[in-house]
Amino acid sequence: MNACPTHGALLGGYVLGSLEPAEMDEMRLHVADCPYCGPESRALGALPALLDTIEPADVPPPALSPSVEEAVLDRFAGGPVGVESLAALLGEERETIEAVYEPFLVQSGYLERTPRGRMATQRCWEYFGRERPAGPKQGRLL
Ligand SMILES: [Zn+2]
Repeated sequence: MNACPTHGALLGGYVLGSLEPAEMDEMRLHVADCPYCGPESRALGALPALLDTIEPADVPPPALSPSVEEAVLDRFAGGPVGVESLAALLGEERETIEAVYEPFLVQSGYLERTPRGRMATQRCWEYFGRERPAGPKQGRLL
């Protein structure tokens, strides 16, 4: 990632503030005029605040989010599917679907909310290597 030959390995810890105090001081001086670490540390500067906003419990286990996507693809041909049906199919509480899975999937572009229910996106079909079936359910955004 970082091409700096001397301090590249320390940069991540520096940005996150997790180095020993002496190393932090050293990095502060180094970053000020290193052509590699300087720009990169500025680019990564927003990272700690970003990480703070992520609660581990809010991130669905990787094995679970595809199950939601595949349920929409397989059982409902891409949707639209109501959140109640989805919850029943997956054996999850409606609240769990709405509070945990859905925001994650919508934000990452795999699922979209429509007035009729949840629909798999083109990206979701492609991710799972499926053909999106043609028909009245197909979006006509393009
Ligand atoms: Zn450097």
